[in-house]
Amino acid sequence: MTTKAGSQVIALEEHYWDETVTEHYTGRNATRSSDLLQRLYDRGELRLREMDEAGIDIQVLSHGAPSTQRFDAEQGPPIAVRANDNLYETVQAHPDRFAAFGALPTANPKASADELERCVTRLGFKGAMIHGLTNGEFCDGKKFWPIFERAEALGVPIYIHPGYPHPDVVKAYYQDYLAEFPTLATAGWGYTVETATQGIRMVLSGMFDAYPDLQIILGHLGEGLPFSLWRIDHALSRKENRVSRSFRDIFSAHFHITTSGNFSNPALLCCVMEMGVDRIMFSVDYPFVENRPGVDWMDTVPLATEDREKILNGNVRKLLKL
Ligand code: ZN
Repeated sequence: MTTKAGSQVIALEEHYWDETVTEHYTGRNATRSSDLLQRLYDRGELRLREMDEAGIDIQVLSHGAPSTQRFDAEQGPPIAVRANDNLYETVQAHPDRFAAFGALPTANPKASADELERCVTRLGFKGAMIHGLTNGEFCDGKKFWPIFERAEALGVPIYIHPGYPHPDVVKAYYQDYLAEFPTLATAGWGYTVETATQGIRMVLSGMFDAYPDLQIILGHLGEGLPFSLWRIDHALSRKENRVSRSFRDIFSAHFHITTSGNFSNPALLCCVMEMGVDRIMFSVDYPFVENRPGVDWMDTVPLATEDREKILNGNVRKLLKL
């Protein structure tokens, strides 16, 4: 299983759903097409067949949005533990095909830090994924820092993934068009705005001065941040600002990005030019996006073979110690 060029392919923003978590979902999260649901709940035959057909060797699995970010401080921890235990079983069944990012009950930061440690040291997980806001709050707030402190201590990254935007934002920015274009609030634009905002807020919070080895992953080619890096840096990196380094220096030292759901050569080349190739990793965003177009796209990227290898497998093997 390889691309046409013969490379190993590792994809790391690849989702599943576990009924342990989703039985608590309400509203829009409970309504999805049956094809999508079938793929979300499959952690075996169908998923592996579609990986084989596309040429994907390894998926790093993560629970899909909103995962355990909408539960309260008491409800979340036991649900996350059960979901992570189930995910461990999935990886154990196919250890050469699957690796895992844990789900964290972020409404309870202390329990999240402890669960992250359990996931990494006992279950062999490679880090954790956080989906959007935790009951309306961005995760750069000081109360969430124990999670990032523990991630740094364990030497694992945190993947910051989109979730459905804040209801006030949906109302002010997107509501007028949602009946006709429901994905405007999600992959069409809303996810990008909110997750890019989360990334910027993390830099401004000073958490990377507190945790100098912390590594964050953003999907969707960095949620637009590489494209805007010069302007953001110019506007935010003024002497009077309290963060010790420039925005660009912090972003370039602490963020990795993936290609999930954004298979554009011009956008990828922009990312390579702004961040360097060593922080870019291949992902699909399965099953919300199909595997095949992502893998086929990689055969077309106008980069040297060694650089394409880094994106397809080298950079992720280094970051996740695979
Ligand atoms: Zn995703």
